Amino acid sequence: MNKKNDVLVDGLIKENVSLKKECNLCKESILKVGQKTGYGTVTIFKLGDNKNGWFATLSPRTGGDPEKDFTIQLMPFAHLTHFSQMGYHPELAENYGIAFSKISWAMTKIMAEEEDFKVTSDSRDKATSIATYGKCTNWREKKEHLHIKIFPFRGDIGQPYTVDSSFGKKEVYKDKKTGEEFVKMKPVRKVKISEKRFDYLSGLLISLLD
Ligand SMILES: [Zn+2]
Repeated sequence: MNKKNDVLVDGLIKENVSLKKECNLCKESILKVGQKTGYGTVTIFKLGDNKNGWFATLSPRTGGDPEKDFTIQLMPFAHLTHFSQMGYHPELAENYGIAFSKISWAMTKIMAEEEDFKVTSDSRDKATSIATYGKCTNWREKKEHLHIKIFPFRGDIGQPYTVDSSFGKKEVYKDKKTGEEFVKMKPVRKVKISEKRFDYLSGLLISLLD
């Protein structure tokens, strides 16, 4: 491996990750469980301390069915911008695993309660599927506080993603005017979850994750 590159990547991993005044997620990280932000997310879970900790919020909007679906966002307290920084403090990586698993468990509990749950489902439609999405990008405008989304994988939100082999198997169409190739996807529109449902979900998640 190239020595110069090693030093540069090391610089990224060891970057200062202390609280940034201008970062929204750093501001959210100091809220207590049950507290709401100005844009409506509520903190549902906290684990660990400033160096090794993670917190999760429930989003007031969903790209799925607002009667059933919801999105949880998992973030480190520290201003990490890259996945590779997670292993710098072993406890940070450990807490990530615990948090991710607990949140997935709580989400499954809620989905199972509302659907006809089976350990192994007979069909895709009836399955209790969960997906996660997160990325780390390091160009200036998009070098953001790490955030990982966890959500029921169904409906319009549950379409095959570019990394899925089923996405690659989609029928390819050609734009008549430009000749550009494309595949069809259903549009995803984020809608607000009703206040009653949101309060119910946040309360339930807080008690399950306590
Ligand atoms: Zn931050």
